[in-house]
Amino acid sequence: MKVLVTGGAGFIGSHVVDAYVDEGHDVVIVDSLATGRREYLNPRARFVELDIRDSALRDVFERERPEVVNHHAAQASVPSSVADPAHDADVNIMGTLSLLERAREVGVRRFVFASTGGAIYGEPERIPADESHPTQPLSPYGISKMVGEHYVRFFGGFGMSWAILRYSNVYGPRQDPHGEAGVVAIFTNAMLAGNRAKIFGDGTQTRDFVYVEDVARANVLATESEEPGLANIATGIETSVNDIYRHLAEATRFRDPPVYEPPRTGDVYRIALDPRRAQEWLGWSAEVPLADGLQRTVDSFRR
Ligand code: NAD
Repeated sequence: MKVLVTGGAGFIGSHVVDAYVDEGHDVVIVDSLATGRREYLNPRARFVELDIRDSALRDVFERERPEVVNHHAAQASVPSSVADPAHDADVNIMGTLSLLERAREVGVRRFVFASTGGAIYGEPERIPADESHPTQPLSPYGISKMVGEHYVRFFGGFGMSWAILRYSNVYGPRQDPHGEAGVVAIFTNAMLAGNRAKIFGDGTQTRDFVYVEDVARANVLATESEEPGLANIATGIETSVNDIYRHLAEATRFRDPPVYEPPRTGDVYRIALDPRRAQEWLGWSAEVPLADGLQRTVDSFRR
């Protein structure tokens, strides 16, 4: 199958590309390298360095005529979306819309959209949050991703089938350790350099950590299915930030305690996403246990 992957030079998108290539799919990557990196590009995929908002996107679609579009390109930082909501909306809403229009023009069969659980559900009313949980985004990023979902469904009315995957906290090799989100990457990087990492709050706050290769596998399954659908891609398990710190300290043999700082405003306290619908729809469930995923992450950061 010919698949066009946006954001295929980024953390998650590059693993999605690797999984497609391993399955024998023909992959074209469109990425502006805004945050992605050339060294993450799979050498067996073709690469077009382009912003999804650029009018030259039409030429790429006409030349490549993909059957499937997998959309991972995004302004993916919550703090950046708060600092510059207009830029966030431009990339995540207008960029997504432009991609959907190009996909419709060339008769793309299926559109797979990387969305988010935590940023869309907001402060959870129940844990784990399932897909029918009210959506109350707490940031411009959550708003723009939610609008993107609506456009994807709307374009489904033109005969393009769609899959929306709402990820929990994805972690693993190639995650940027300099961002403000990915605690696993930030802690691993600090510990390997012999530095104490900061925890905002008392560390009892929880997240649902899903390994990036499990996420990539969900994308392959969502591509192969014909059925339109939306599902959380998560483990359903809450893990505290203190536990992540302990696991990583063990894996890196780091002995010092974290530095505790005041909690950040706008962070939810607890969250986990219900993964049952992904099992029913795609036959997907997370397979990599947390301790293994963290060990693999540490090994890759060491290299
Ligand atoms: P990332 O920043 O590593 O990847 C985003 C990629 O998109 C980068 O390669 C970047 O260069 C590219 N890009 C950005 N703007 C672009 C533009 N205008 N045109 C073309 N390319 C552009 O981030 P990530 O964590 O890998 O996130 C990938 C996707 O998954 C995003 O859509 C994000 O919203 C979603 N997501 C991530 C998480 C997570 O835990 N990391 C959770 C939920 C959803």
